[in-house]
Amino acid sequence: MSAKIRPDLDSIPAYVPGRNHPGAIKLASNETTFGPLPAAAKAIAEAAELANRYPDNQATELRAALADFLGVATANVAVGCGSVALCQELVQITCGAPTDEVLFAWRSFEAYPIVTQVGNATAVQVPLTSELVHDLDAMAAAVTEHTKLIFVCNPNNPTGTAVGKQQLARFLDAIPKRVLIVLDEAYYEYLRLNPQDRPDGVELGRTRPNVVVLRTFSKAYGLAGLRAGYAVGDPAVITALMKVHIPFSVNRVAQAAAIASLEARHELLDRTDTLVTERERVREALLAAGYRVPPSESNFVWLPLGTRSAEFGEASAAAGVLVRPYGADGVRVTIGDPHENEQFLHFATAPAVAAQFG
Ligand SMILES: *Cc1c(COP(=O)(O)O)cnc(C)c1O
Repeated sequence: MSAKIRPDLDSIPAYVPGRNHPGAIKLASNETTFGPLPAAAKAIAEAAELANRYPDNQATELRAALADFLGVATANVAVGCGSVALCQELVQITCGAPTDEVLFAWRSFEAYPIVTQVGNATAVQVPLTSELVHDLDAMAAAVTEHTKLIFVCNPNNPTGTAVGKQQLARFLDAIPKRVLIVLDEAYYEYLRLNPQDRPDGVELGRTRPNVVVLRTFSKAYGLAGLRAGYAVGDPAVITALMKVHIPFSVNRVAQAAAIASLEARHELLDRTDTLVTERERVREALLAAGYRVPPSESNFVWLPLGTRSAEFGEASAAAGVLVRPYGADGVRVTIGDPHENEQFLHFATAPAVAAQFG
């Protein structure tokens, strides 16, 4: 007989690795197609030579660099083994009883229900609007005395939609101050809303100690394989995050690469302009072929194909392009290099495919 494991974990699906399609184009994980910049590659190599030494558990240099970049104090910044680790730690610092509620939109980031359940709390999901945007009024109305934490993924993964600054500020002000609100801004660098409407969680959080912002080096900064994300918030929240943090989980190579990438950010952020141009081109082509595609403020587009999602995903894989179907909701397609996007469009806009799915 094997050892007794928490039975409630049975309802969390075991991790299923993506199928291996040699030679296929991968537009399934919102990754950047470029390798590390030369300066980051050099920092990675140098840090690797010290692999026998533990990393700085406080990540002091990286946190100071981030604080400088963001115009906050080091005490306002925590780092995590990817921002997904910070999501789990945020549940840990706010929830202690199964009746504690974590509120988030659905569909949204697939990690939210998992970290909630792992943290022994209760997930409360509020459907997106018919426009596939966060329904902030419904979310505010869903707050109860048990609500401890709210995730707002902005722009939203997997629909790509974003809520604007004023709307978000109104929502933040409508939530009781005892509730911690997480603004997950993993795709912040791809936002192109006009400056008056552009939501910036760090700015919104300056006067609101119950707001914490998550950003990551995995997307625009191109370091998904090294695992570094960060939280910006009130020092009390940051101190608590550092208490539950798995010691040394942000390794030496990740810290060094993140510092080098932050220094070289202009080059990395310039690349997002090219990506945004491609995003708009892909969306226009899909719209012209008859698909519904909500406006995207991220590095992917969403096709709300409902029950046809799995079938579309398989047909795309057969055509050599891996995309990400989500149950009976839709398919997320990462924007890649122009030739990769072209191969996807060649498949998706072919008359027979567009007639079936568009
Ligand atoms: C990709 C992503 C993250 C970042 O994940 P890392 O753990 O930092 O790689 C966080 N939130 C959302 C919504 C994401 O899509």
